[in-house]
Amino acid sequence: MKVFKFGGASIKDVAAIKNVAQIIQTYQDQPLLVVVSALGKTTNALEDVLRAYYEQDAPLLKEKLNVVKKSHLQILEGLFKPTHPVYDEINDIFVDLEWILEETPVDTYGYLYDQIVSNGELLSTQIVAAYFNKIGLHTTWLDVRDCIATDNTYQEAEVDWELTYNNIQQTVPPLLEQGIVLTQGFLGGTSENFTTTLGREGSDYTAAIFSYCLDAESMSIWKDVSGVLTGDPRLFDNMTKLEQLSYGEAIEMTYYGAQVIHPKTIRPLQNKQIPLHVKSFIDPSGSGTVIAQYEQLDYPPMLVVKPNQTLLKITSKDFYFVDEAKFAALFTLFAKYRIKVNMTQNTALAFSVCVNANRAQVQLLAQEIEADYSLETLEGLKLITLRYPNAATMERFDNGRVVYLEEKIRDTVQLVVDSEQVL
Ligand code: ADP
Ligand code: ASP
Ligand code: MG
Repeated sequence: MKVFKFGGASIKDVAAIKNVAQIIQTYQDQPLLVVVSALGKTTNALEDVLRAYYEQDAPLLKEKLNVVKKSHLQILEGLFKPTHPVYDEINDIFVDLEWILEETPVDTYGYLYDQIVSNGELLSTQIVAAYFNKIGLHTTWLDVRDCIATDNTYQEAEVDWELTYNNIQQTVPPLLEQGIVLTQGFLGGTSENFTTTLGREGSDYTAAIFSYCLDAESMSIWKDVSGVLTGDPRLFDNMTKLEQLSYGEAIEMTYYGAQVIHPKTIRPLQNKQIPLHVKSFIDPSGSGTVIAQYEQLDYPPMLVVKPNQTLLKITSKDFYFVDEAKFAALFTLFAKYRIKVNMTQNTALAFSVCVNANRAQVQLLAQEIEADYSLETLEGLKLITLRYPNAATMERFDNGRVVYLEEKIRDTVQLVVDSEQVL
């Protein structure tokens, strides 16, 4: 069997959904599980709804909710006659959502995030499944929350692999015998039946979880680019497509910020040696990029940029070295406050770390270490990672820019620079 994942851009309007259905039609002779994200930018729109709700701004909430309703209604009208039962299904989801939004928010932001923002995928999958069935693709809509079991770390839930494996093995194979199985990306469910989310852009990861649990022969993620390119085409011109990429290289690229694949996607696939195809939904017959267990490929220079970085310079107040025990204690705090460390450098008395963190997280860290360390913070930076740089790429990036932190190890050069600096 194969697993396909279609992201928001691939189902952003009526024409796009019809295009996805056409792609599916060419693969319908084989067992297929399809993972779908929310339509277009719905997740952002639902985040706006959540913020308005949390701030109890009633007029804004109404306005933001209407944006979501309108975009879904427009797509429904473009795909179905007014008598189609899918209108009721979509209406029911909005009724449930409004039910939540009428209450005063008492729960944590994270919990509410997952109960509200998850509706994007519930809506999109009902629409896409109904459309597939309408055009004769026999499709079962599967509630992913009955399959992917997670803990209750809302917004970044951890998968319980054993439970998830059993759920998927029990539920999915009989459904695949009847036709296409279509389910939601990004979501999971706790043992108490609360909805969770796996982190923004997490639908790629969902597809990898199903691929792993079903021993898929391959997984394909369908994107608006021809495959994995040597750099983000929104930032750089003339990027070329990579035909092949090893799992290890893909992990490096996504970890350092290549947004084309969610970083958690690769590991489950690598564990079972399942190839990952990154394909274009605009040019479905194109070769795309194949990510698999390749050894010793020759790579061209590749560029990865991770925005929204913060540099923390932590200096020992008592002039004692920042030694191993102190590193251990500091890293325990990073983990405690979910501060993601991307690059480090140390001298005898100071430790510099480039991290993903918001102000609140840094504030909590600062409070805990203030007795022993002074902390300098620099926000609004980006981390540039160059893999296999050649003379031309080095020249381009070294060229007179202010670099706050720099590291060169074998095939990788990393630079922390101001966000304002032109690349
Ligand atoms: P999805 O619709 O599945 O969520 P995304 O929009 O998240 O897909 O990812 C695809 C986008 O990733 C592309 O449109 C492209 O702008 C961006 N991107 C960033 N880095 C790369 C890269 N190295 N190769 C290809 N695309 C990249
Ligand atoms: N819809 C979610 C998001 O936009 C998950 C995804 O698209 O992968 O983050
Ligand atoms: Mg995306």
